[in-house]
Amino acid sequence: MQMPDPNAMIIARKAHLVARLQQVLPEDAVIHSDNEVRAYECDALTAYKCPPLAAVLPANTAEVAAVLRICHEEGVPVVPRGSGTSLSGGALPTADAVILGVAKLSDVLETDYDNRFIRVQTGRTNLSVTGAVEQDGFFYAPDPSSQLACAIAGNIAMNSGGAHCLKYGVTTNNLLGVTMVTMEGEVIEVGGAHLDAAGYDLLGVICGSEGQLGVVTEATLRIIAQPEGARPIMLAFDSNEVAGACVSDIIRAGVLPVAIEFMDRPCIQACERFAKAGYPECEALLIVEVEGSDAEIDEQLSKITAIAATHNPVEMRESKSEAESKAIWAGRKAAFGAMGQINDYMCLDGTIPVSELPLVLRRMREMSAQFGLDVANVFHAGDGNMHPLILFDANKPGDLEICEAFGAEILKLCVEVGGCLTGEHGVGIEKRDLMHVQFNRVDLEMQLRVKDVFDPGWLLNPAKVFPLDVTEGRRIIRQTAA
Ligand SMILES: Cc1cc2nc3c(=O)[nH]c(=O)nc-3n(C[C@H](O)[C@H](O)[C@H](O)COP(=O)(O)OP(=O)(O)OC[C@H]3O[C@@H](n4cnc5c(N)ncnc54)[C@H](O)[C@@H]3O)c2cc1C
Repeated sequence: MQMPDPNAMIIARKAHLVARLQQVLPEDAVIHSDNEVRAYECDALTAYKCPPLAAVLPANTAEVAAVLRICHEEGVPVVPRGSGTSLSGGALPTADAVILGVAKLSDVLETDYDNRFIRVQTGRTNLSVTGAVEQDGFFYAPDPSSQLACAIAGNIAMNSGGAHCLKYGVTTNNLLGVTMVTMEGEVIEVGGAHLDAAGYDLLGVICGSEGQLGVVTEATLRIIAQPEGARPIMLAFDSNEVAGACVSDIIRAGVLPVAIEFMDRPCIQACERFAKAGYPECEALLIVEVEGSDAEIDEQLSKITAIAATHNPVEMRESKSEAESKAIWAGRKAAFGAMGQINDYMCLDGTIPVSELPLVLRRMREMSAQFGLDVANVFHAGDGNMHPLILFDANKPGDLEICEAFGAEILKLCVEVGGCLTGEHGVGIEKRDLMHVQFNRVDLEMQLRVKDVFDPGWLLNPAKVFPLDVTEGRRIIRQTAA
């Protein structure tokens, strides 16, 4: 008897799936040629790549539900995708998965200034949410540096933060409700246009769940009245540790700036070259922004400069104009791109208690010497969310492996001092195998059970977040690029 050809079976299975998807979506919304699916083979963590089986671009919740129903019936994994800017490989496909992109879901559905919310489809970019309300004096607070490109969908999945989250909180603090489609194609509403909802806090579970529980298609977001004014001050120091100690003292004093950002010399120089921000010559720079009326700003800045003065700053320079403030932020927001122009780097994302900043910065310097790779630092210092950038040479054999080992040690250090493995970029594929450092088996088991409830077949965004040894037996281990 002739054995069936496995390749022919895969091709036939794919053709069958594509034909079914084309019955519920326009033809150009189903991408399946080998060349075209390559556009979806990775996200911003480009070290990992794997072309998906196909990619679909539905335009509304009903189409998303139809796609999920088909994939569920066919037992095909689905990887939800916003704009593909994840730095942890969250939107990385598996070879047998369909990428479900929400880019076409970009409408504003409702704006309510009396109750201070906006309802949007989740493919809308972060910055364009503020764009929809700023003419009326409002803004959406979470501001990832990728805000020009990243979608609200990805922000919710990763519980994204940004420079201004010290005062206003991260995505979870600004999310009121979602419409979500389950893997079975059921549409559920969670939360609403109000502060709290009856029953379990499922919104808290969904926000930060990394596309593992359902596909979020609509979101109700809190919007905030723009402050009367805002002004940054730059505080320059001759060492990272002293700048870290200054941050810790500002927070301890109970002053609440809207942002405290930290950059070390390599980042300052790269950003200055890239954005001509006017940064001073120094080893470490803090950008501290306060907001309110002129009198409130003056009062807060005088407290901050008094604290900074006790750390012998090299320079303290207040922004004197709107243009200067814009330049200061343009430099900081371009930091990742600016560093990428001069070096390959791996961007880490760990959180630590602010009081541990000086210790962690010192330990990282020691590890840098030990591993023989430089580290550049740019991060949201006010809430202890660190983004060490480990510099390496992608063309040098072995450098990536050393870089990954070094990165793992830094994240373990974050956990050791009382912080956690991820502040805002998520676990994805990048930190999946480090989850044991943070959680014991029982902790992990409870999280796995939540996944079991929402997606018993483990078809949504497989091979992410949980170490493979704890998911064994719960799902079919699928081929991944990792
Ligand atoms: C230059 C640069 C700067 C960055 N700066 C920041 C920063 O300051 N702060 C920060 O928090 N992050 C930052 N990031 C990381 C990234 O932009 C965020 O994680 C962002 O929220 C990802 O959004 P996205 O739309 O690109 O999502 P994607 O990368 O497409 O996906 C991210 C995750 O969301 C899931 N997902 C996507 N759509 C849906 C959906 N509809 N339903 C359910 N799950 C879904 C995916 O499966 C994946 O797990 C930065 C990235 C870059 C490249």
